[in-house]
Formats: sequence, C-alpha cells, structure tokens
Amino acid sequence: MELEGYARSETGPVREHNEDAWKIDLEQGVFVVADGMGGHAAGEVASHMAVETVHQTLVGAPDPEETRLVRDHESEDPADILRERLRYAMNQASIRIRREAELRPETRGMGTTLVVLVVDGDQAHLAHVGDSRAYLFRNGRLVRLTRDHTVVQQEIDAGRLTPELARLLPHKHILTQSVGFHGPVEPDTTTRMVETGDIFILCSDGMTDPLDDDAIQRIVANTPLDLLADVLVDEALKAGSEDNITVAVVGAV
Ligand code: CA
Repeated sequence: MELEGYARSETGPVREHNEDAWKIDLEQGVFVVADGMGGHAAGEVASHMAVETVHQTLVGAPDPEETRLVRDHESEDPADILRERLRYAMNQASIRIRREAELRPETRGMGTTLVVLVVDGDQAHLAHVGDSRAYLFRNGRLVRLTRDHTVVQQEIDAGRLTPELARLLPHKHILTQSVGFHGPVEPDTTTRMVETGDIFILCSDGMTDPLDDDAIQRIVANTPLDLLADVLVDEALKAGSEDNITVAVVGAV
C-alpha cells in the first residue's frame, strides 16, 4: 500500500493572518493539521511550533524522558507504544508553546488545536486535541474519527443539545482543551486498520463550519484524490467560511 498526500491552506476573505499550519511527511507517514489561536499573530507561532514539535518528536530518536515513559507504560504492543508517543509529542508541543509565551509577553495565552495521523504499515494511528477533525472516507461513506473537545460537544454528548443546533451557537468554538494554553493535554487516541482506497481528511474548523458531514461526503465521493484538498477549500469558501481553512488529504492507493 502506498500513500498519497495533498494539502491546501487559505487565509480566507476575513482574517488578516493564516493561523493554521500543516505538515505532510509521506516518507514517515506523518500528517498534521493545527489551528492556532491568540492575538497579534501569536496563533501562527503556536500552530507552527506545534506542528514542528510533533513531527520532530515522532520521526526523531526518542529522548530519555520519552524512552522512560514508554518503558513505564509496560506495553509490548507497537500500536500502544505509538499512541503513547503521540501523547508525549503533543505534550512536548504544549510545553514548548508555554515556554515561548513566557519569553514573549505578546504571545501570552496562545494555543492551538492539533490533529495527527500516523500511518505505519496497515495501521493508522490518530490523536487530537481541540476541534480540528479527522475523517475517513471508505466505500462511499464518510465517518468522523474525532470528537471535538468543545463545550458544545459536551452538551451534545449529555443529550442537552442537538448537533444541528450546536452548529448555530456563537460559543461553539470554546475548547475544553488546547495545546499550549491549557498546559498538559490529554489527547484522544485511536488505532484502526487501513484499507486500500481509504481517504483520510484532516481539517481545521474553517472547513467544517460551513460544510456539514453530508456535504463533505458528497464532495469526497465526486472528486479525484489529487484535487480533493483544493475542492474542499473552494467549497468552504463558496459556502461562506470566514475563518482560515486548512485541509490535508491522505489516500491509501
Ligand atoms: Ca479556526
């Protein structure tokens, strides 16, 4: 199985800066999208720092702290170890962002979402913090793989709010955790088998605000893989997205 990857990121018509960041490393099978927040372009600092830190931590040799963590985790299962490394990498990103914010007062309070996909052989490992999402398109159907770390998602889970109503609420973007701002993070992690033909999509909320899951599924079903990131961004812009929009697409071919 081979991987193909494509990404596109746009500032959009309203914002002055693009505070999203992304990375595609086909050789190592590492894919990341981050959506930064914080005034005076600090969001850009946070998202880029997070993407680079996670990538370097995952592709580099484990440092002593990481080695100790994985050993203390007492698991022989490679998938389990990889998910532990993902959690470590995302916490390293959080530590670095907080340190940077202490050194540069103008960036104080900056943070970022993070969604990370690692494809290792026929397994896909996912981790996320915040409301950037991962989707899987398989056999004509789109499945959301992540659950937003937002206050409104908690309300939906508790049965007090419908997803349709949640999309309309002004406070829908308030996060229950973010990398950097909230300090130590507890990413959700999963592992699933990859099949030929699978398409993974990582995206910031600039794409999912104007496009619901049905709309995304229709677009993915009718668009060639190499054009998909472009078309999803175009459709989000056409649908009135006012935010930065970032889409990374990974196909198992
Ligand atoms: Ca955003």
